[in-house]
Amino acid sequence: MSTLLKTSLAYAKEQDQKDELNHYKNQFHIPKDDQGNDWIYMCGNSLGLQPKATQEYILQELKDWANLGVEGHFEAKNPWMPYHEFLTDSMAKVVGAKPLEVVIMNTLTTNLHLLMVSFYQPSKTKFKIVIESDAFPSDRYAVESQLRFHGFDHKEGIIEWKPRKGEELLHLEDLETILDQQGDEIALLLIGGVNYYTGQYLDLKKIASLGHAKNCMVGIDLAHGVGNITPDLHKSGVDFAAWCTYKYLNSGPGSLGGLFVHEKHAHNKKLKRFTGWWSHNKNTRFNMRQEFDLMPGAEGYQLSNPPILSMAAIKASLDIFNEIGMDTLRKKSKTLTGYFEFLIHQIDTDRIRIITPSNPEERGCQLSIQVKNADKNLHQKLTDHHIITDWREPDVIRCAPTPLYNSFEDVYRMTEILKTLL
Ligand SMILES: *Cc1c(COP(=O)(O)O)cnc(C)c1O
Repeated sequence: MSTLLKTSLAYAKEQDQKDELNHYKNQFHIPKDDQGNDWIYMCGNSLGLQPKATQEYILQELKDWANLGVEGHFEAKNPWMPYHEFLTDSMAKVVGAKPLEVVIMNTLTTNLHLLMVSFYQPSKTKFKIVIESDAFPSDRYAVESQLRFHGFDHKEGIIEWKPRKGEELLHLEDLETILDQQGDEIALLLIGGVNYYTGQYLDLKKIASLGHAKNCMVGIDLAHGVGNITPDLHKSGVDFAAWCTYKYLNSGPGSLGGLFVHEKHAHNKKLKRFTGWWSHNKNTRFNMRQEFDLMPGAEGYQLSNPPILSMAAIKASLDIFNEIGMDTLRKKSKTLTGYFEFLIHQIDTDRIRIITPSNPEERGCQLSIQVKNADKNLHQKLTDHHIITDWREPDVIRCAPTPLYNSFEDVYRMTEILKTLL
């Protein structure tokens, strides 16, 4: 295939025609400009687009509420009492877990705290927490507050896993060194499975085995991984994970998150945790005034009866993921992002550098593009062209062509406009 051909619009269109997932774009609301042209939306890493079916799923619950009131808990088309169970199987498949290991509840940072109640059990000498130096701020603040809550100094208690000097990506050998040197003082690793900034997808199984070799608990933040890569959580052996569903899972702003607790902890009633009536055995929950009877697995982490309208939006989205399957989605994702990377490399300038790993196994769909001497103006100009990306100071544009609603033509047009702007 000649480079010249691949850099033509005709080639991009041909790839779209060959793509068996191409028609899924029609299942989403794509924002449009004043002339009615679709935006090129590459911000699924921040807030995914709305599936057209979402409205219907939410309306169903509004209707059942209007017609049935409290009876809807049992009589609704999708009864509210067990509603979260309708999401479990598809959610488990998306992250490679057993149904016992996952539940949809709360929001991401809340879930990280609830999980740390169980999995961050510091002693006077083994209390430190390893995070990435470029961890998402909310994760860092959560970890800092856990340290202070347990009476430790948060500066002393955090160990940062850093890229090497002059680099952006993390090396597993450096984590190994940290654990070799300070493992006796470390209680927990809390690592972003796909880094939100660089898009680097880390080897979760390796991280779990490194951490466990030093008796540390291992937790993974999958906010940028869920619906993007196939993390195989059960096999990875990590102790716990948490994620949000409004990024690649397209469930709407501020929607509920999900969590994973490995099967090896499912029946451990001695784990410390916070509980509520929704962590209690569902068969006897409404007998009330009864001694607490913890549910096994991830469900035992629930506290409250959940917001059904948000769950309905998650169901609308997971039904699409379930229909396609993550392996098929990931396959297109690798091809699409690979094509994007190829086109970026064709731009004749030395101002551009992609900091995301070039190995498709070490990234999801996101490419973080560093542009020398750029400022936020460049991002603004892209936005003026209705190309929605995400800017990070000082000079990085994060672009996430998602396999569900982005096309080869999107990627082509985006690169053409970037070229003229440079
Ligand atoms: C998006 C994101 C969050 C957001 O947390 P919320 O509790 O959902 O507001 C936290 N951590 C990471 C790594 C994220 O990417």
